[in-house]
Amino acid sequence: KELLILNELVEAIKNKEFTAYVQPKVELYRGRIYGMEALARWNSPKLGSVSPADFIPIAERAGFIREIDMQILEQILVWMQKRQYNGKKIVPVAVNISPEHFYHPDFIDTLITLVQKYFADPQYIIIEVTESLSLVNIEYAQKMLVRLRSLGFQTSVDDFGIGYSSLSYLQRLKFTEIKIDRSFITKIHEQGTATIVRAILQMAQSLEMTSIAEGIETKEQFELLKQIGCNVAQGYYFFKPMPLEEIDEKEII
Ligand code: C2E
Ligand code: MG
Ligand code: MG
Repeated sequence: KELLILNELVEAIKNKEFTAYVQPKVELYRGRIYGMEALARWNSPKLGSVSPADFIPIAERAGFIREIDMQILEQILVWMQKRQYNGKKIVPVAVNISPEHFYHPDFIDTLITLVQKYFADPQYIIIEVTESLSLVNIEYAQKMLVRLRSLGFQTSVDDFGIGYSSLSYLQRLKFTEIKIDRSFITKIHEQGTATIVRAILQMAQSLEMTSIAEGIETKEQFELLKQIGCNVAQGYYFFKPMPLEEIDEKEII
C-alpha cells in the first residue's frame, strides 16, 4: 500500500491533485467562527480518496511534504484574495507544516514569497506545527517562532499534550495558540482528564495563548469544556472539514 501511494504521490504533486478543505473553529460562548484549519484532501485518479493519515507520513519520509504544504497554502491564499476582492469577510486560517518542512532552511523565504504573491496579510495565516517539533531542536524552534511573529504570522501548536514535552516548554515557545489533542477531549468526562485540561487552559491563559479543543463530537463534551473555561473548539459537533466553496455558498463566515 505504501509503495502504491509513494508511486502515485510523484504524479499527484506534479498534477496538483491535492485540495484544501477547511474546518471552522468555533467560539464556545458566542458561537462565532474564530478561524479555520486547512486540511489536505487527495482524490487520486488511480487510488481514489486517500486519507492524510496515510499519505502525509509517506510524503514526509519521501521528502515531498514541502510541496504539499505549499500547494495547500497557495489554495488558501487564492481563496482569501478572492473573498477580499469580493468584499467578503476573512478569518485566520491555520496551515499544517510538518517538522521537516518547518526546519527546512528555505521555509520562511518560500512562505514570504507566496504570501506576497497574493497580497495577503500574514495575520491571517497561522503556521501550525506539531508539539513533537520542539524535540528536534528547541533553540532553533524558538528562533523560528520569534521570526514568524516578527513577520506578523500567527503560530499554533498541534496535538498538544501527547508529546514528550512538558507544560513548561510553552514558556520558551511563544505560540499564538495551543490545540489540546483530541484524546483529552474524548475522555473529558473523566475527572483526571478534566483536571489536566484545566491545567493546560490556565497555563495557556497566563502565557496569553488561545486554547483550542480538538475533535469535539458531543454536546456533553461541549458543555464540559465550557464549564472548564475553554473558549474555542473544533470538531464534528460543529463542522466537518469542507471544501472552500461550501464556506462561500453557505456563508459560514
Ligand atoms: P491534525 O492537524 O491534528 O488535524 C485534525 C484531524 O482531526 C483532521 O484529520 C480532522 O479531519 C480530524 N477531526 C476534526 N474534528 C474531528 C472530530 O470531531 N472527530 C474526529 N474523530 N476527527 C476529527 P485529517 O484531515 O484526516 O488529517 C490528519 C492529519 O494529517 C492532520 O492532523 C495533520 O497532522 C495531517 N495533515 C492534514 N493536512 C495536512 C497538510 O496540508 N500538511 C501537513 N504537513 N499535514 C497535514
Ligand atoms: Mg492540525
Ligand atoms: Mg491536531
